[in-house]
This record gives sequence, structure tokens and C-alpha cells, in this order.
Amino acid sequence: MTTVFIISAPSGSGKSTLVKEVRGRVANLEFSISYTTRQPRGNERDGREYFFKARDEFEKMIAEGEFLEYAEVYGEDYYGTARRFLEKARAEGSDLLLDIDVQGADEIRREIPDSVSIFVLPPNRGELERRLRERGQNSDAVIRQRLDAAGREIENYGKYGYILVNDRLEESVKALEAILLSERLQRLDRTDAGLSDIAKSYRLENVRERLQPILQSFGKTAASVK
Ligand code: ADP
Ligand code: 5GP
Repeated sequence: MTTVFIISAPSGSGKSTLVKEVRGRVANLEFSISYTTRQPRGNERDGREYFFKARDEFEKMIAEGEFLEYAEVYGEDYYGTARRFLEKARAEGSDLLLDIDVQGADEIRREIPDSVSIFVLPPNRGELERRLRERGQNSDAVIRQRLDAAGREIENYGKYGYILVNDRLEESVKALEAILLSERLQRLDRTDAGLSDIAKSYRLENVRERLQPILQSFGKTAASVK
């Protein structure tokens, strides 16, 4: 049985770094490589980080029903998850990890109600800005746009089963690994007390208080994002 894991985060939170690390640690975890119409960045390669497509090719794939979900992210480019990754995971009996935005997560939750979703947050807005600048792949204008988008994206945190504040990287990698493994075990009617305790501490209902200063740094309060 395939468990579908969704991971979303404001750009620059460290989601790609986390995903890369756990993919190296968790066996039987298929990763969906998305399709996008955006240009490759830095040393990204076609078929490794994304399948890079022209707009008309992407629209042809939409018309042919090849996507499980797709969205226009930042109102600019298309991003989409091909159905074939889910089919492949199911055929292999692997779990599937989707790195998708908040709109895509809404769509997958509708299509796959028992999917497990994880929202990654930076420790605060200042740190998010620092990480976006440190990554050195975006212009000032794009960084400003991503910070504005982050404020809107975090309003969706309450729809996610788990919230992972990515402060110390190694701790976050262990937390993500524990979430994936404990959910997997649970579906097999098994448990590992150590893993399940770690995972539980990241469940939405157990982190609400810790989120307050993070939301405030983005000019939000829990009440304003309900
Ligand atoms: P995303 O995929 O969420 O856009 P990245 O994984 O590209 O983000 O990370 C953005 C930047 O932050 C990168 O330069 C990365 O090395 C750095 N980074 C990631 N996690 C941490 C962390 N826990 N502490 C400090 N820097 C981090
Ligand atoms: P980036 O351009 O920084 O790689 O990604 C921008 C955003 O697009 C991220 O939030 C990422 O999660 C999201 N994204 C990547 N692939 C997909 C996808 O297949 N579907 C959706 N809906 N979002 C995606």
C-alpha cells in the first residue's frame, strides 16, 4: 500500500535540502519529479530536479490528463505532478513523496484523502530572507516577491497534519524521517515508540504555541490565519 506524503513550504525554508537528505535515508520512498515551465536555475538538470517544458508542451499534457495535479505558482509558471509517479509507486509498493505548493496540496488532499501532509516553516521571516539571499539564485525583486508569497502561503499551515520548523538542519532531517517512518509503520499496524514520540511532537495540535512568534514575524496571528 502506498502512502502519499505531501511536503510544502515557503520558498527558501529549506524544503529541497530536507527532501534530498531524507531521500538518502528512507528506503522504498519514490520521489515525484515535477514538470514545470520555469527556466532551470544554477546547475539544475532536466529530469533530475524537474522536467522542464515549454508552455505549449505543458498545456498539451494538461489536455491529455497526464497530471494528478498542477498549478500556476507565483502566478507565472506551471508546475505539475505526473500521474505516472503515483502509478509507479503503487506498482512497486513504495511510498510517494510530493514536493508541491499549497494549491497542489489542496488538490491532492481532495483526490487522496488519506495522504499525509507536512508544512515546513523557517524560524522567522528574517531568517527566511537570509536563506533566500544566501542561496544566491534569485534577484532582489524575486526575493521580495517570494517573501510576500511566503506571508500568504503560511496562512495555509492549519491544513497540514505536521508542522516542521526548520531551525537546526540535522534535527529537522531526523524529524522528517521519523514522520515518514512512523506513518508508514502505523499503516502496517505496527509502531516504534521512539519514532512515534518524535513524530507526534511535530503534529499540528502540538506545535500551535511554538508557531506564534513565527507567524508574528510575518505580521500574522493564529486568529488571522484561521
Ligand atoms: P527551498 O527548497 O525551501 O526553497 P532550499 O533547500 O533551497 O529551500 O534552502 C534555502 C537555503 O537555506 C539554502 O542555501 C540552504 O542551504 C539553506 N538551509 C536549508 N536548511 C537550513 C537550515 N536548517 N539552517 C540554515 N540554512 C539552511
Ligand atoms: P521552485 O521554483 O522554487 O523550484 O518551486 C516553487 C514552488 O513550486 C515550490 O513551492 C514547490 O513546492 C512548488 N512545486 C514544485 N513542483 C510542483 C508541482 O508539481 N505541483 C505544484 N502544485 N507545485 C509544485
